[in-house]
Amino acid sequence: MRNFSYARATSIDEARVQAALPAHALLAGGTTLLDLAKCGVAEPDTVVDITRLGGLDTIRVDDRGARIGALAKMSHVADHAAIRAQYPAIAEALALAASPQVRNMATIGGNLMQRTRCAYFRDPAAFPACNKRNPGSGCAALGGVTRNHAVLGTSDACIATYPGDLAVALMALDAVIHTSGRSILVEDFFPLPGTTPHRETALEPGELITAVSLPATPAARRSTYLKVRDRQSYEFAAASAAVGLELEADGRTIRELRVALGGVATRPWRARAVECALRGQPLEEARVKEASRLAVEGAIARGDNAYKIDLAPRVVARAILAVGGVA
Ligand SMILES: Cc1cc2nc3c(=O)[nH]c(=O)nc-3n(C[C@H](O)[C@H](O)[C@H](O)COP(=O)(O)OP(=O)(O)OC[C@H]3O[C@@H](n4cnc5c(N)ncnc54)[C@H](O)[C@@H]3O)c2cc1C
Ligand code: SF4
Repeated sequence: MRNFSYARATSIDEARVQAALPAHALLAGGTTLLDLAKCGVAEPDTVVDITRLGGLDTIRVDDRGARIGALAKMSHVADHAAIRAQYPAIAEALALAASPQVRNMATIGGNLMQRTRCAYFRDPAAFPACNKRNPGSGCAALGGVTRNHAVLGTSDACIATYPGDLAVALMALDAVIHTSGRSILVEDFFPLPGTTPHRETALEPGELITAVSLPATPAARRSTYLKVRDRQSYEFAAASAAVGLELEADGRTIRELRVALGGVATRPWRARAVECALRGQPLEEARVKEASRLAVEGAIARGDNAYKIDLAPRVVARAILAVGGVA
């Protein structure tokens, strides 16, 4: 790992100015940034520690919604009683992510900014071709081992999966990401790779995430996050689904449904076709399974990742049935 300087920001403005300088990187929990520096992907000259910025670690939940500070630790949010009661999908997504040690260090803002686990991206010495790391250099994953790569939202330039869990739950629950200068719908925060996979978020240089907010809705209260992975802990999703559900007064007709997928797409993936197909319909196993196939509409398999096209709809159906009390 290259040497770098350390600076501590004492205000958001100072952090913004510092972060906008070339080769300066914000440091929150450090669980991603230092990893990437060790493998030679991140090469900061200076890391700007934002962990002492006051007021960014608070979690507030009331009748209108929730506001979670960017510096709140993943473990604090996962354990927060009101988040668990009002936004179970958020608490579950965080509790199923990484390990207790990582969750105790890592922050909400850092979690949203984590980068892909594409093995080619993370090994620049062995694989110089990576459009995300080095625009225009090609993609070593195409034609390589693709078991963990995306089947949705890919392009000829990049097929890397967005790896995080939290953003998938935020996508299902229509969260807003607040920065030092504006508010961005989570849907608009993560672009598709297209021809510019190096542009991974809507953040401009020097822009900080300050908080995430969530509207209070019946679908958020009745929500869940289901994650399928190769082992039960310390593992990224092979496929995951965040689901929010509201039933009519009859207790069986779907009034509102929110579905987002993780582990299978280049960004947190909202499955609106599944939502539309089931809204107004009775919550029945066969119907849910049939509609869940729409979750992978337009999917493209590239070798070893074909299994995700079968797996993802099953995960979606299981999550809908579980949150509806059918399974
Ligand atoms: C072994 C391992 C397993 C993991 N498994 C999972 C998993 O299953 N699911 C999952 O979701 N995650 C997983 N993670 C990722 C982990 O959740 C992230 O590393 C963590 O959330 C990053 O938070 P941090 O505060 O440590 O970020 P840092 O490492 O400090 O920062 C990460 C990036 O975000 C930027 N940044 C940080 N804060 C801000 C801010 N407020 N505004 C703008 N930019 C900011 C930094 O400059 C940096 O580029 C895993 C990580 C490890 C090491
Ligand atoms: S899939 Fe994307 S991140 Fe992975 S090597 Fe190709 S361009 Fe790089």
